[in-house]
Amino acid sequence: NREIHLAERPQGWPTEDTFRLVTTDVPTPGPGQVVVRNTFMSVDPYMRGRMNDVESYAPPYALDAPLDGGAVGEVVASKADGFASGDTVLHGLGWREYALLDAAAVQKVDPALAPASTYLGVLGMTGLTAYAGLLEVAKMQPGETVFVSGAAGAVGSVVGQIAKLRGAGRVVGSAGSPAKVERLRALGFDAAFDYHDGPVGELLRSAAPDGIDVYFDNVGSEHLEAAIGAMRPNGRAALCGMIAQYNTPEPPAAPRNLAMLIGKRLTLRGFLVADYWHLIEQFVPEVGGWLRDGKLSYDETIVDGIENAPAAFLGLLRGENLGKMLVRV
Ligand code: NDP
Repeated sequence: NREIHLAERPQGWPTEDTFRLVTTDVPTPGPGQVVVRNTFMSVDPYMRGRMNDVESYAPPYALDAPLDGGAVGEVVASKADGFASGDTVLHGLGWREYALLDAAAVQKVDPALAPASTYLGVLGMTGLTAYAGLLEVAKMQPGETVFVSGAAGAVGSVVGQIAKLRGAGRVVGSAGSPAKVERLRALGFDAAFDYHDGPVGELLRSAAPDGIDVYFDNVGSEHLEAAIGAMRPNGRAALCGMIAQYNTPEPPAAPRNLAMLIGKRLTLRGFLVADYWHLIEQFVPEVGGWLRDGKLSYDETIVDGIENAPAAFLGLLRGENLGKMLVRV
């Protein structure tokens, strides 16, 4: 069994030296436990925060111990009622080839309904984040103009498509390369821009000349400032992530225009997907139906091999992914 440990706490950008590949024995299950051979593991931006030794909504990773995170795999040994070898399951012990888990920490998924990898992405955590943030937190209404940053990523690409499917008037996305911008247009975004092409405020004004009603924030900083500037009265922002500052030792100066919240009666609301897990009951049939009917598409960027999981994570932070970044273990 090979697994990835946290070798040091990064200051600023993590590097390959942040991680260590360690070989251990394949575990055997005790009573009530299963052993899972992971087939896909997720790398996610929130993992960067857990590498710091600070209190947050998720506990920090321990040094010289395996990292963890979402994974799917196949049960290879079971001493738990209700689980048999060959079952496909979703759980929280990624970053390793074999995971030892209590049955209560493992959820069966149906690989016949959708590919196993999608339970980490469009039908899993990132898809639910998009759904909950757009519909419950920002309360998008039909006809409204929506702007989403990080739009070619796992969360953002689903936000834009759900907005269109739920009747948004205009959907605008920003992303980090011309190829990503082209992909957003193919996914049905009405307008898209590469945020490297100029001040975000100006790019957003050309993409949404009449302003925006909803902003789904994956990036923070200059993007958030631009969105506040473009908001129409009573606009709402769902604050999902601020990846522009995850690797900067100092927080950014922007947004500098918070006073606009008053006159425009804006609402900025942060949220965690963990608080919306109850929506899974309506989310899976609705989004699963759109997938089946070909109304919603998803991209995956797949890196092969547990030894390349650190490179996949670093690539995610640098924007090398289109859609969900995954490691095929
Ligand atoms: P993505 O698939 O969107 O991958 C991250 C992307 O961020 C990269 O592809 C890159 O794309 C972009 N990026 C990196 N640095 C910058 C920067 N300086 N400015 C603008 N864009 C940047 O990841 P996820 O979809 O998994 O996550 C998206 C956001 O949602 C993150 O902020 C994450 O922390 C947050 N999140 C929050 C949750 C919650 O419960 N609140 C749950 C899940 C995710 P590009 O090429 O476009 O720069």
